Amino acid sequence: MQQIVLASRPDGAPTHDNFRLETADMPTPGDGEILVAVSHMSLDPYMRGRMDDAKSYAQPVPVGGKMEGGGVGQVLASNSPHFKEGDHVFGMFGWATHAVADARMCRKIDPNQAPVTTALGVLGMPGFTGWYGFNELGRPKKGETLAVAAATGPVGSMVGQLAKAKGLRAVGIAGGADKCKLAVEEFGFDACIDHRAYKTASDLRAALKEAAPDGIDIYFENVGGKVLEAAITLMNPHGRIPLCGMIAWYNAGGLGASAAQEGLTAPKLWRTILVNFLSVNGFIISNHWDRFPDFVAEVAPMIADGRVKYAEDITEGLENAPQAFMDLLTGGNHGKAIVKVG
Ligand code: NDP
Repeated sequence: MQQIVLASRPDGAPTHDNFRLETADMPTPGDGEILVAVSHMSLDPYMRGRMDDAKSYAQPVPVGGKMEGGGVGQVLASNSPHFKEGDHVFGMFGWATHAVADARMCRKIDPNQAPVTTALGVLGMPGFTGWYGFNELGRPKKGETLAVAAATGPVGSMVGQLAKAKGLRAVGIAGGADKCKLAVEEFGFDACIDHRAYKTASDLRAALKEAAPDGIDIYFENVGGKVLEAAITLMNPHGRIPLCGMIAWYNAGGLGASAAQEGLTAPKLWRTILVNFLSVNGFIISNHWDRFPDFVAEVAPMIADGRVKYAEDITEGLENAPQAFMDLLTGGNHGKAIVKVG
C-alpha cells in the first residue's frame, strides 16, 4: 500500500518538500476493525492547520505521520458485524490507498443514493457545514441578503443554494471570472464578485455594495482577509456572521502577519460588530454530528431532484495529492477537491 506522510512542517504555504510518498506493508484489521481499499480521498482546508504544531481544537499530524483526512472506499476484510466485504464506506482513512479503521468510526454509504464521492462533499462534512452554519447560526429570513466567499466550493455552494431555496438574495465572492460564472449559472447565485479583480478591500467593498444594494444580513465567513473587511462594513443592523473559516490566513498560521499586511485592523472590525449589534458565531462542525441525519433528510432529496447541484474537482493518483492540496489553499480547485486513489 502507499501513503503520504508529513515530511516536515511548512513555513507559510506548503511545498512538495513537506510531503513524502511512502510504501508500507498492508495493515491487518484487529478486533472490531475493517480493512478498506480507498477509492477517493477528500482534500480540505483544515488539513493545513494539522500541518502546524500549534495549539488548536485538534491534534497536529506528527512529522513522519500519515496525513489526515476523510475518504471513501470498499471493505476488503471485516472483523466487525456491522460491515461485510464489498460494503461502501466513509471513514478517516488518511492520505493512503488502504487503511485499517475502527468500524464504529466509519459510516456505511449507499452508492445507489448518490455517487460515493458526494460523501466527501455535498452530502458529507462540507455540505453539512454549510447547512448547519447557514440555518442554525445564519437564522435566514425570506427577502434578506446573504454573502459568502469560496462560493463555488462545497461549503459556499451549499450555503448559496440553500439561501436561494429560502428566498434570500445570494451574493457570492469567488476567485476568477470562471468561478463567478459557475456560481451564477450553475449554483444560482444572484451575483458573484471576483475578489481577485480588486486590489484593495475598499474597491472590493464598492463592487459588493452594488451586488448587495440592501446591505448584507448574513455574511457566512469562509475566508477572512480582504473579503471580510469589505463585507463587514456592509452589514445591516442585527446581521449574523456564522464564522466558519478564514482560509486567507491559514498559511500565515492564524491572524498574523498577512492580516496586518491586508490592513485589517482589529479595532475597526470589532467596532463594526458593536455598533451594528451583529451576532458572530464560531462553530466546529464536528461538535454537531447529532444534526447530520436532519441535514441528509433535507438535502439528499434536493440533490436527487436537481434543486441542489455540486461541483467536484477530481485529481488522479495519490502521488498528486500534495499538489492538489497546495492548489486548494490558493483557489486552484474548481469545486470539492477529491483525489481518486484506487
Ligand atoms: P473550498 O473547496 O471552497 O476551497 C477553498 C477556497 O478558498 C479556494 O478554492 C478559494 O476559492 C478560497 N480562497 C483561498 N484563499 C483565499 C483568499 N485569500 N481570499 C478569498 N478566498 C480564498 O473549501 P471548503 O468549501 O471545503 O471550505 C470553505 C471554508 O470553510 C474554509 O475556510 C474551511 O476551513 C471552512 N470549514 C470550516 C468548518 C468548520 O467546522 N468550521 C468545516 C469545513 C470547512 P476562490 O478561488 O473562489 O477564492
